[in-house]
Amino acid sequence: MNETFTLGWEEWVALPQLGLPALKVKVDTGARTSSLHAAVIEPFGTEKNPQVRFLIHPDPNHPDLEVICSAPVIDRRNVTSSNGETELRYVIEANITMGDRTWKIELTLANRESMAYRMLLGRTAISDDMIVDANGSFLQPTLSFEAYKNTRTTKLAKRSLRIALLSREPDNYSSRRLVEAAEAKGHSVEIIDTKRCYLRMGDLLPEVHYDGRALPRYDAIIPRIGASVTEYGMAVLRQFANTGAYCLNSAEAIGASRDKLLAHQILSAAKIGTPTTAFASSPKDTKDLIELVGGAPVVVKLLSSTQGKGVVLAETRKAAESLVDAFRGLDANFLIQEFVAESKGADIRCFVIGNKVVGAIKRQAKEGEFRSNLHRGGAATPVRLTKTMRDIARKATRQLNLSVAGVDILESSSGPKVLEINSSPGLEGIEKATEKDIATLIIEHIETKVSPLSRRR
Ligand code: ADP
Ligand code: MG
Repeated sequence: MNETFTLGWEEWVALPQLGLPALKVKVDTGARTSSLHAAVIEPFGTEKNPQVRFLIHPDPNHPDLEVICSAPVIDRRNVTSSNGETELRYVIEANITMGDRTWKIELTLANRESMAYRMLLGRTAISDDMIVDANGSFLQPTLSFEAYKNTRTTKLAKRSLRIALLSREPDNYSSRRLVEAAEAKGHSVEIIDTKRCYLRMGDLLPEVHYDGRALPRYDAIIPRIGASVTEYGMAVLRQFANTGAYCLNSAEAIGASRDKLLAHQILSAAKIGTPTTAFASSPKDTKDLIELVGGAPVVVKLLSSTQGKGVVLAETRKAAESLVDAFRGLDANFLIQEFVAESKGADIRCFVIGNKVVGAIKRQAKEGEFRSNLHRGGAATPVRLTKTMRDIARKATRQLNLSVAGVDILESSSGPKVLEINSSPGLEGIEKATEKDIATLIIEHIETKVSPLSRRR
């Protein structure tokens, strides 16, 4: 073939081995590899013969047209997309036909469907004897979605989900309620003890092992990782995510919400009000640090605190200084915060699922206590939220990339201030006080996010 082969910035192609007779592609020489955008991606097969199955809507204007493709996995690769997000993608190989030419290319599978083009043709798929004319479009023969006329469209038949609840406390209220709610909807749930999981890495199909066997592939993971196992729990959760399971909250998001410093930085960057907070690692700055947050009284918090255990109120400057010195002597990581006295020992816990506040309670500390944690004897009553409060809770959850969160807000004289965002919020306090079935709402949220392919046909 001596004739020059010129491509415009958009072209029609076929991927016959994948059962895709017509696709509109965007030719993107800014991207290295080509990518195919699928609605659902599910790995299957064995360690020796890893494969992947995926669902494509070839015609962006007709979501009813869906094709399920499968292909051997030849690699997994970290790909940073144009929106800056890096994800570990499956790589497959397939023949591409454009005009009178057919050649073999590599394709990464992206779990994303928002693009007008279901496929991007990257520069490694374009050989030296091809010319890209960035001003031309459809320079090669056009095809049409009519090519799918005889494709049998399969309607989404809902099947039950296989869910794993990552928790070290199978018998606590939250675990029991989540299992109950999932089973009531016909799903199967297994409670997996985070600490007993071990991981096999380095393969195309990563596995999580447990009690001497590889765990099956789950559709969804509900992480309820205790603060004492955050780090290992995050590794386990990442591994589950790599197996293709939908994780209700991602490891990164849980990590950010658990890191009180990082969470404060994210919130203040997003202009979400928080109590003035200061942090230093050098002992010389004690006095100045206390002044930075407006002087005593101040709240001193261990960064690893949960359930109010490491949160102390220092009423005077002297008390604050000795407290800070004592924490430093113990090599503890802590922050200092302005004490919001006007909230009078009360805070508001907003329970957020997806982009919605599904319930809220006011927690009032018991007499003589400023910490409202229910574990510290605080009492919960349902509250109606103002729109401002609701918006702040949703925005904070979104900023931390969480899908389920308990956002704790103090009402201060200068407006609502977010105290912290809990990525494994307990269900007992909120369900009992509001009489709402939060567990079912969580399961329903998972149902909207996961549409399993396997047994659909
Ligand atoms: P933990 O992660 O241990 O729950 P928090 O930061 O949520 O730590 O603090 C525990 C409780 O202490 C809060 O629910 C709130 O009632 C109270 N509290 C914390 N910080 C302040 C503050 N700056 N001003 C007033 N009360 C606070
Ligand atoms: Mg708290």
